[in-house]
Amino acid sequence: MLMCRDLARIASDYIDGELGPMDTVSVKMHLMMCGHCRTFIGNLRSSVNLMKA
Ligand SMILES: [Zn+2]
Repeated sequence: MLMCRDLARIASDYIDGELGPMDTVSVKMHLMMCGHCRTFIGNLRSSVNLMKA
């Protein structure tokens, strides 16, 4: 099972869509159970979008 610290390590690859299918599923499963990481990914995603804009 993916841990919060593992998710933090691969979060930017997840947002960029660069994770493999297995890792992507693991991240999605974790996000369903973990509100903390949902917030974390949400914040990261908005800052990534800001940088791209
Ligand atoms: Zn988590």
